[in-house]
Amino acid sequence: MRYLSTRGNPDRKRFCEILLEGLAPDGGLYLPEAYPQVSDATLQQWRRVYHEQGYAALAFEILSLYIDDIPADDLRALCAKTYTAEVFGTGEIVPLRHLEDGVWIEALSNGPTLAFKDMAMQLLGNLFEYELGRRGEELNILGATSGDTGSAAEYAMRGKKGVRVFMTSPHGRMSPFQQAQMFSLQDANIHNIAINGVFDDCQDIVKAVSNDLAFKRKYKIGTVNSINWARLLAQVVYYFAGYIQATEQNAQKVSFAVPSGNFGNVCAGHVARQMGLPIDKLVVATNENDVLDEFFRTGVYRVRGTADTHETSSPSMDISKASNFERFVFDLLGRDSARVKALFGEGLSKTGQFDLSADPVFAQAASRYGFVSGKSVHADRLATIRATFEQHGMVIDTHTADGLKVALEQRTPGVPMVVLETALPIKFAATIVEALGREPERPAKFEGIEALPKRVQVMDADVAAIQALIAAECGY
Ligand SMILES: *Cc1c(COP(=O)(O)O)cnc(C)c1O
Repeated sequence: MRYLSTRGNPDRKRFCEILLEGLAPDGGLYLPEAYPQVSDATLQQWRRVYHEQGYAALAFEILSLYIDDIPADDLRALCAKTYTAEVFGTGEIVPLRHLEDGVWIEALSNGPTLAFKDMAMQLLGNLFEYELGRRGEELNILGATSGDTGSAAEYAMRGKKGVRVFMTSPHGRMSPFQQAQMFSLQDANIHNIAINGVFDDCQDIVKAVSNDLAFKRKYKIGTVNSINWARLLAQVVYYFAGYIQATEQNAQKVSFAVPSGNFGNVCAGHVARQMGLPIDKLVVATNENDVLDEFFRTGVYRVRGTADTHETSSPSMDISKASNFERFVFDLLGRDSARVKALFGEGLSKTGQFDLSADPVFAQAASRYGFVSGKSVHADRLATIRATFEQHGMVIDTHTADGLKVALEQRTPGVPMVVLETALPIKFAATIVEALGREPERPAKFEGIEALPKRVQVMDADVAAIQALIAAECGY
């Protein structure tokens, strides 16, 4: 398997070469040259694998189609080490919960940080440790987070050999639970940096350090953001596992509803569908930040400015642009990399938008690729959380509520609808209290974490000071 860039760079790379990279050198995103095709017989065999051997074995089957530069036994061991009942709470890893006639919730949020990002990040931690060990190299991960990504990255990389994490976050702006999750980690390789500023200041620091090429090379600066292909690939597995649980035979189609921000999660669904998984619709649910809903309704992709980016009660979907969207547009345009480069390169930086409404391919987003979309706002979220609790006794988080709201609008009779649960309600307790008048349940292992000692340093948004900190930790 070789990987290409969506913007046409002629180089072809192997999996482990792109594992530790972010963007391709031409600014594009990596995708496989072709999606491996899964026959009916193989899908039938994977049903047995999942039911008899479990999620880790299924993950190995799927990943090994895309990763041919890690020996099979090693890859199998990495999957087995990652997807355990101990880490993810159940033997099924991603159990389906029945909600009502034809509607299921796929539980993806029982990992260490209670959000679906653990599904990919836990594997990434093990892949990084493996590959760095093989190369005898180190990596310093520098990130910016407003919540879920940073904690998932820290819990995945804690104690990993060869990896240090420097995670910036806006001082005092994460929820108390999120702060406690991150700052209570005492591992020597995890560094929490609370920046006097907002999230954009944190992101600017990461950009400035990454653009300092001499520093970046000397200190092996890397990232773990959602454009990383390995993260996306790991997410493909739970579409198969969800499908297998929702059906008894392969003639049955299933739709998935996905609370979306950067388009990473639902892009993994697109990859699964392109591999031949019988997915009917891919339902993209957005919150008030409706860049993606606007595109799928109108064909116009319009990046939002800071003033137009809303702070909402499903904050992990508060995006101004969807960083993985280029991958889907590449496929939609028949893999025309010159056009992708024009649209996402100069086009977006000049005008902040592009318009495919007049192009016949736009209709294929729905007809050929199964994409539909919808939007859910704060009042919808509250109503959905309330109705789900009153009718089914189930408390869902704010992001999952956005997914469910749009899922119910997009149901087709006879086609099971699987809503991806992207976080547990305890992470966003204030809105649950607003909706239900009571605190969400807290898993036992998180009892009292707010009172634990905190390991964090508060710093100004000063690039040189952050660089000095990294250099001091590296000691070279
Ligand atoms: C990251 C995140 C999302 C958005 O996922 P994308 O892959 O960026 O579309 C949705 N919900 C929660 C809880 C998240 O943490």
